[in-house]
Amino acid sequence: MQHKTIIEPFRIKMVEPIYMSTEKERLNYLKEAKHNLFLLESRKVIVDLLTDSGTTAMSAEQWAGIMRGDESYAGAKSWERMRDAVSELTGYPHIIPTHQGRAGESILYSYLGGKGKVFISNTHFDTTRANIEYAGSTAIDCITEEGMQPSLDHPFKGNIDIKKLEDTIIQYGAENIGTVILTVTNNSGGGQPVSMQNAKDVRTICDKYNVLYILDCCRIAENAYFIAQREEAYKNVSYKAIAQEMFALADGAVMSAKKDALVNMGGFIALKSKEISNACTTTLIIKEGFVTYGGLSGRDMEAIAIGLDEVFDKDYLHYRITSTTYLGNKLLEMGVPIIRPVGGHAVYIDAKALYNHIPVHEYPGQALACDLYLKGGIRGCEIGSVMFGKYDENNNLIPAPMELVRLAIPRRVYTQSHIDYVIETFEEILKEKQNSKGIKITYEPKFLRHFTANFERV
Ligand SMILES: *Cc1c(COP(=O)(O)O)cnc(C)c1O
Repeated sequence: MQHKTIIEPFRIKMVEPIYMSTEKERLNYLKEAKHNLFLLESRKVIVDLLTDSGTTAMSAEQWAGIMRGDESYAGAKSWERMRDAVSELTGYPHIIPTHQGRAGESILYSYLGGKGKVFISNTHFDTTRANIEYAGSTAIDCITEEGMQPSLDHPFKGNIDIKKLEDTIIQYGAENIGTVILTVTNNSGGGQPVSMQNAKDVRTICDKYNVLYILDCCRIAENAYFIAQREEAYKNVSYKAIAQEMFALADGAVMSAKKDALVNMGGFIALKSKEISNACTTTLIIKEGFVTYGGLSGRDMEAIAIGLDEVFDKDYLHYRITSTTYLGNKLLEMGVPIIRPVGGHAVYIDAKALYNHIPVHEYPGQALACDLYLKGGIRGCEIGSVMFGKYDENNNLIPAPMELVRLAIPRRVYTQSHIDYVIETFEEILKEKQNSKGIKITYEPKFLRHFTANFERV
């Protein structure tokens, strides 16, 4: 029998209790945190959807691996396991361990970059862009027209625009391109997938102009699932084989293992070129650690080796993507406006459309994020004008292009009833939305204000 109900393909062996706060308590907690959910202690949260990064529940195998961790300074067995797992998956011979994704970005992109250098991506993730700009280079996003329209349904909204890519290379001169970075799935673009055809087209362009091609492969397993579902030629290819084919197209990859390697901390750079690898290794030893551990403990490397294998399990990936889609589709049915189609790791709510009675300069996304916390103890993340807004010379807000609230789903952490609880909270949000008031900023630092700003209700 073919079941309709998709269950979590795991049993729970260890539990972490959740404190079930009341709405009255949460009103106080929110005031104490100055209406900034980043300033809220996690013990005051019921369902924490702030991020899918490093929040994974590890498997029994991974915990067993942690006990086997070899903490030798040089040549640890755990390093051999991680190196072999990454090498087998990517097909690249040169593997460099780092403590998380941005450490790899910093090492690789500072070597490839510098004044006058240009990096091109579908969308640079914020730490990627920050590392590129910090090294004095320029980061240019070349997302397709479809990728910029929130309510348009399209199978591969993460694709890079091939024409814009080629035009940008010609405009700046191929010799000035640091590298092309294809981010799979496209995190900042809503967790939308990139097709294999697009990855191949990028290869063609990079060959034509002799430009380096790097994958930001944080969510390549989730991307492979979408390719198998949506790209005819791959419907009978295994998820791992799809990922391997994509790696084979590029010259290297940077990964935050906190995503699809199913661990709480870790990352790596993997490369075809010995020359680039040698240069990165020098910086690695100065900044991160010796070549056989980077910034990692032996036990972390053990868990990464196991996680990289588990993430391609077909039942896991089916459950993973289906549960994100389940949340998104239920919200759509209820009339909550979201970015479509639903991406791999998160559901993005269009707060400007849902809270259309709150003007953009009163931050509808922050208002919705606070309401979700008040009504359900749910912690999401505003991705709108609090995060990306700027001011003009008269101190008027230049808003972000969209006012979104992201609900990111941690891997293997919550069950369907937690998700149903989130959906039920939205019924209340919809009923009460007219009573919700805007937000004003009472304190803000100069950079990355969303992390530490203070707010009040208008
Ligand atoms: C998380 C992430 C990074 C940065 O990784 P960290 O481990 O957080 O430093 C880079 N790129 C993408 C696409 C990411 O999602």
